[in-house]
Amino acid sequence: MSSRLVPALMRRARLLVALVILVMPSALPHDTDPTWSWPLDPRPEVVRAYEAPPHAYAAGHRGIDLAGKAGAPVRSVDDGVVAFAGAVAGVEAVSVDHDGVRSTYLPVAASVRQGSPVVRGQVLGSLLIAGGHCFPAVCLHLGRRHGAPYADPEELLAGTARIRLVPPSGPPPVPPPVATAAPGASLAAPVEAPVSSPYGMRVHPVTGLLKLHDGTDFAAPCGTPVRASADGRVVAVTYDPAYGQRVVVDHGGGLATSYNHLEKASVRSGATVRAGASLGAVGSTGMSTGCHLHFMVVVAGAPVDPMLFL
Ligand SMILES: [Zn+2]
Ligand SMILES: [Zn+2]
Repeated sequence: MSSRLVPALMRRARLLVALVILVMPSALPHDTDPTWSWPLDPRPEVVRAYEAPPHAYAAGHRGIDLAGKAGAPVRSVDDGVVAFAGAVAGVEAVSVDHDGVRSTYLPVAASVRQGSPVVRGQVLGSLLIAGGHCFPAVCLHLGRRHGAPYADPEELLAGTARIRLVPPSGPPPVPPPVATAAPGASLAAPVEAPVSSPYGMRVHPVTGLLKLHDGTDFAAPCGTPVRASADGRVVAVTYDPAYGQRVVVDHGGGLATSYNHLEKASVRSGATVRAGASLGAVGSTGMSTGCHLHFMVVVAGAPVDPMLFL
């Protein structure tokens, strides 16, 4: 190497370093920030965590549910391109591709179109009530996918303190005052059967995680008729990966009941029912280890101990 070439190379190397330093700051937000921003504002509570399915086609919870208000703006967690905006199995949803990682939001009334570029924090649409995983409460389901398999979105969300409605250990969340339900509301048992698992914290029989068991289990054989606990209106007849075939009845005054893991439902959404009317039959659909009825009482959007009403 000639003595003239060395200083020339040194100068070129110094120029290169200077260029890299100049370029770095603008590249920082995209290339070195692996986190996502929260899709709801203010930062929402995680009301249901990700539950990895035991195998690709099994039930699980392929995302997280974030508490929200109906109509709230739903924002993209990162820069990307809208991969999908529309209904999936009757539920309005939006998906955004971020360099091979896909975020999915539902139920959301999209205000963006497929193929549109979006930036982190940009509004994708507004949060709907129908089709949500917390129905009749309102929440946003956020999914995260790398190629084919789903992954836990919570790992990517910015911030160190992870907020959970249900702490890894400790008491269940404090329910809202029962006074918000119809005064003196009392409910009839949905089946004639012994309680096999009460409402409260427990180790989930399928996932092995300690979490709130958000209803009362009645050990009744599959096929046993399930009856409405009080007069009301059927507001949902849906299939949920966790709750299986479910029927939700609104009794007014902020009080609702739901009947889960049914073998089949015998009512349609919108039907008016009287107390004792048949809603379907006990089954073991969704995340369930055997025939039983998972009965829930929801007051002002939050599950409470059904035994307070029975
Ligand atoms: Zn969900
Ligand atoms: Zn249960």
